[in-house]
Amino acid sequence: MIAMNEAMLYERLPDSRVRCHICQWHCLINPGKLGVCRMYRNKNGTLYNLNYAQVSSVAADPIEKKPLFHFFPGTLALSLGSWGCNFHCQDCQNWEISCSETPEPYRGPHQIQPQTAVEMAKSHHCAGIAWTYNEPSIWFEYTLDSAKLAKKNNLYTVYVTNGYLTPEALDTIGPYLDAWRVDVKGFSDALYRDLTKITHWRRILEVAQRAKDKWGMHVEVVTNIIPTMSDDDPQLEGIARWIHDELGELTPWHVTRFYPNYHLQHLPPTPIATLEHAYDVGKRADLKFVYTGNVPGHKSESTICYSCGKLIIERYGYQTRVIGLEGSRCKFCGAELNIRTSGTKGGHHD
Ligand code: SF4
Repeated sequence: MIAMNEAMLYERLPDSRVRCHICQWHCLINPGKLGVCRMYRNKNGTLYNLNYAQVSSVAADPIEKKPLFHFFPGTLALSLGSWGCNFHCQDCQNWEISCSETPEPYRGPHQIQPQTAVEMAKSHHCAGIAWTYNEPSIWFEYTLDSAKLAKKNNLYTVYVTNGYLTPEALDTIGPYLDAWRVDVKGFSDALYRDLTKITHWRRILEVAQRAKDKWGMHVEVVTNIIPTMSDDDPQLEGIARWIHDELGELTPWHVTRFYPNYHLQHLPPTPIATLEHAYDVGKRADLKFVYTGNVPGHKSESTICYSCGKLIIERYGYQTRVIGLEGSRCKFCGAELNIRTSGTKGGHHD
């Protein structure tokens, strides 16, 4: 028997229909039907979430795996994923869980209530909790309850997200979230339409800015560079310029290597030269921290001070050695590096 929790952000409409306001699909859902993500169901005019605490995957991961490179480097994050997604990306690496049908009847290996998640984080020596592997907003109520509890227990909180939440949803969880690791998959209508099937992709940018400006979250951006789809200069330059102008030159940009996957088996892995070109595009836009991802041992994995050129954090894959950090600054020359090692949101919220 699956527990159904009433959704938080929806409106009731005539004829027992409802409209969900968790993500920017704003699904209009008829009685008995599901939203696009298949994790919210309208039952007789009330909207229920179907995957509260239903965990498909759990691990104590290095925070670098999210990837977050400027946020509590070298720590572990208890990483939790559920089922389903509000995007249907052609290149999804976790399609077995994200493209799952509704979990009725319950099919997961674990049910992990928020209190248990907090206890697991502590017993596995994790400094925080990350909702990742599938889109966290589609078990919104669970991540909110867990984030509130995590803050009371001095754990940091991370969303690894496609960023398609409504401002209303962001503002609901904003007081309890420390980091927003957002994908910006490309920079054109065509890319988002072909890759993800969504149209209002610019709202992702607005919400990421709001996460930073209104809620003081630490933001890092990931772009998986897909040959022939998101590797052209106009898109790369668009993303780099947006990060620089709207999030700031100290915001990390991860350009990651695509591997043939799911519906894009016919494309080759991203050539290293293409990744290095994307890196150069970021540097030309005056971004101080561009990292190539999914290429262990590449020289751009480590953090170098843009001011004095010294090595600050050495990385190889998920191995991390912090060398030259004092607070958020370079210990050699004092330059601000936007690396958060303390100062997460307090536990004073209700
Ligand atoms: S969370 Fe799901 S049901 Fe709600 S608007 Fe997004 S896709 Fe639709």
